[in-house]
Amino acid sequence: QPVAVNELISLVVDSMSLQLQKKDAEVTLALDAEKDVLIGDELHLSNVIYNLIDNANKYSPSNPKITIKTRNHANGIDIEISDEGIGMTKEQTKRIFDQFYRVPTGNLHDVKGFGLGLSYVNDIVAQMNGSIKVNSEKDKGTTFTIHIPFKLNN
Ligand code: ATP
Ligand code: MG
Repeated sequence: QPVAVNELISLVVDSMSLQLQKKDAEVTLALDAEKDVLIGDELHLSNVIYNLIDNANKYSPSNPKITIKTRNHANGIDIEISDEGIGMTKEQTKRIFDQFYRVPTGNLHDVKGFGLGLSYVNDIVAQMNGSIKVNSEKDKGTTFTIHIPFKLNN
C-alpha cells in the first residue's frame, strides 16, 4: 500500500511533541524528496522513524538538535535522521543493531531502554528491501541513513 513518507514523518514528529518538549528538543525538517510515495507498511515505517527520533532525543544530554531529511535517490528514498548527541565509537556502532545491545559506557544514566529499537528498525528496513547505515562520532553526534527502494522487488 502507498505510503507518503514526508507526511508520515511530520505526523510522527507531531505525535512525539510531548517527549521532545520535555528535553527542549529542536527538530529541523528538510523533507526534500519530491517523489515521496513508496509501497510498504505505514505502521512499521512510522515505528522505524519513531525509534530513530526517540534515540536521537534520548542520547542527547540536553536541548537535542535533531535534523530529519528526505531526498530522492535513483530508485527510492533516503531518510536521514541526525543528532548532535553523545555519539558512539566505531566499535560500538558495529553492535547496535543486535538485540539487547546497549552501549555500556557513555549512555546517560537516566536513559532507559531494552536495546531492542534498532534491531526492530533493521528488520523492517530489510523487509522493505532497504538498507540502513550509521555514522557516529563520540561526543559529536550520530546520523542514521535509511534507503528504501520504491519497488518491493527489482
Ligand atoms: P529501546 O529498546 O527502548 O529502543 P535502546 O534505545 O537502548 O532501547 P536501541 O534503540 O536498539 O536500544 O539502541 C541500542 C543502543 O545504541 C542504545 O542503547 C545506545 O547505546 C546506542 N544508540 C542508539 N542510537 C543512538 C544515538 N542516536 N546516539 C548515541 N547512541 C545511540
Ligand atoms: Mg532506542
